Amino acid sequence: MGHDSANIKPESWLVSAGRGSQPGDPLNVPLVPASNFIIGSGREYSRDDGTPTWEALEAVVGGLEGGKALAFASGMAAIAAVFDQLAVGSLVVLPDDCYQGVAGLAAAGEQRGRWSVQRIAVDDTEAWVRACADADLIWLESPSNPLLTVADLELICAAPRKPSAIVGVDNTFATPLNQQPLAFGATVAIQSATKFIGGHSDLLAGVATTNDPALWHALKKSRELTGATPGTLETYLAVRGVRTLAVRLQRAQQTAMLLAERLEAHPQIMRVRYPGLSSHPTHAVAQRVLKGFGTIISFDVLGGAVAADQVCQQVKLIHHATSLGAVESTMERRAAIPGQEHLPPALLRLSVGIENVDDLWNDLSAAIAASSI
Ligand SMILES: *Cc1c(COP(=O)(O)O)cnc(C)c1O
Repeated sequence: MGHDSANIKPESWLVSAGRGSQPGDPLNVPLVPASNFIIGSGREYSRDDGTPTWEALEAVVGGLEGGKALAFASGMAAIAAVFDQLAVGSLVVLPDDCYQGVAGLAAAGEQRGRWSVQRIAVDDTEAWVRACADADLIWLESPSNPLLTVADLELICAAPRKPSAIVGVDNTFATPLNQQPLAFGATVAIQSATKFIGGHSDLLAGVATTNDPALWHALKKSRELTGATPGTLETYLAVRGVRTLAVRLQRAQQTAMLLAERLEAHPQIMRVRYPGLSSHPTHAVAQRVLKGFGTIISFDVLGGAVAADQVCQQVKLIHHATSLGAVESTMERRAAIPGQEHLPPALLRLSVGIENVDDLWNDLSAAIAASSI
């Protein structure tokens, strides 16, 4: 590798990192479907020692996040490896608006007596700072899902905490291009590479990045012992996907800002949540901690759940599907998901892709016009 991530800009790093550099090396990362290797190099068995394909993904994402990375089978596998570090009786602090898989994982562990869980509002910075003093795992996710509240990571990650405490930040919604939790003082940053890193809705993978060598080894051990290893094809596709992350993100978040403004001015839209809008409750924090406002917009349609479901059925260019961070735009009504009934019933979460902004707006506004009010 000819570059150091500190010497070139992230958008150059993600194109160049993780490639061979010797004469005759393949320019692209090879797909290495191997469980075992000839003994003698220190690399013997994939589950323990990794593969060249996983390591390419780790090199790219680690450099972007500013630490040393480990690839996992999914975002949840990476998150579970962090929770796996906790001693029995630990205190876990979670955001109120939190990825439901993480809330479920934390609740299951609490039920089994492994740890106790405290939930704090994403924007209640003072409560987070207070909780940091006693918590063993401070878990943050920002911008939050699906309300897009932005946590003050700069203050929370610098708050006094136990020396052994882990500050974990799920950085999936922001991407490492828009937010760098490790630079704020977090212990570990998580990417569901299923989303923006892969970018094409064609794989499941996760990445955990830390600059604490002891934690890196412990997470690697957890991956080895639980078998939470990524797939060869998935890591290959994730590397191929991440090469275009900077241009995909730049285009999609430009479009997201324009769509958010047009939605906010639309008479059939009651409320728009997008961190880039000055009306957003945590816009000021977003301006300080984020380099870009992201590609996800949540908005409430007039006419309740019925009208919102109709919008989902009417869109043609935008796909009625879950997930986010891909080249194609997707939208869903979040309160329709089991376990998410507490959310505003007419809230639609739109993940903006890289299609033309006017085509997206025409599709969306036609669907809104066709919904009953
Ligand atoms: C999708 C997602 C996850 C889980 O990732 P998987 O790859 O599906 O396991 C975790 N956190 C956030 C914010 C997500 O969007």
